[in-house]
Amino acid sequence: MKMIRVVVAGANGKMGQEVVRAVYAAEGLEMVACVDPSCADDTHLCDAGDTCRAFADIAEALDTVAPDVLVDFTRPDVVEANLREALSRNVDCVVGTTGLSTEKLQELSALGDENTCLFFAPNFAIGAVLMMQFAQVASRAMKKAEIIELHHDQKLDKPSGTALRTADLMAGDPVIHSVRLPGLVAHQEVIFGDVGQTLTLRHDSIDRTSFMPGVVLACREVGARSGLIIGLETFMDLG
Ligand code: NAD
Repeated sequence: MKMIRVVVAGANGKMGQEVVRAVYAAEGLEMVACVDPSCADDTHLCDAGDTCRAFADIAEALDTVAPDVLVDFTRPDVVEANLREALSRNVDCVVGTTGLSTEKLQELSALGDENTCLFFAPNFAIGAVLMMQFAQVASRAMKKAEIIELHHDQKLDKPSGTALRTADLMAGDPVIHSVRLPGLVAHQEVIFGDVGQTLTLRHDSIDRTSFMPGVVLACREVGARSGLIIGLETFMDLG
């Protein structure tokens, strides 16, 4: 079986460290390089004990290891530059970094050739994908709804990409409330109200491992896809 060669940008971050572990552990994926300006050394040591090449500069990493896939969990202010470097080299991208508009993602996806895929998921957790789908269905019958998204206090963007995507999928124009507090990871409630009743949908990521099966699935799928794809549901059989 041909291995899918993966580079992880943001490898020293909270999500990036989990992604590196997940890629090392995933059958068929090969962890070929990490990119993070905070990588002090030219090798990256994952806590599973494996090592791979580490780079501070994305262009140097891509030119040196020529990967099949770039996974990006960096920051809203650097993800665009990273994607420009990867897509202009026709490297498929799996993006978890939030903060880019759909219009910007469309513009970036045009940088790759007809076989290159730019995949973005505002949330890689299966439960969150289901919560968004259920909210979409419920909004057709219960028109009044509000979204409360709750995240750890180091999250840079507000409202979250998941809340924006949920609102996009729902009928109507739900108000979004953002909560940022220590102790939280990633949580969202969608509350629907009607005469004499409410319906609450809630999803909690209590650990960042919740996102990893989705990231691995996307790494496996992008090679056979092209253009801009948004949302993990594209790769799931939801009937
Ligand atoms: P973090 O601050 O812990 O990590 C970001 C990492 O990016 C840091 O190590 C930083 O040094 C590195 N970095 C900065 N500039 C870089 C560059 N030019 N190239 C490569 N690396 C660079 O942040 P985090 O909590 O890991 O979150 C990262 C992103 O992922 C955020 O946008 C967050 O909202 C998003 N996120 C998405 C999902 C999802 O399911 N889609 C889930 C959780 C978090």
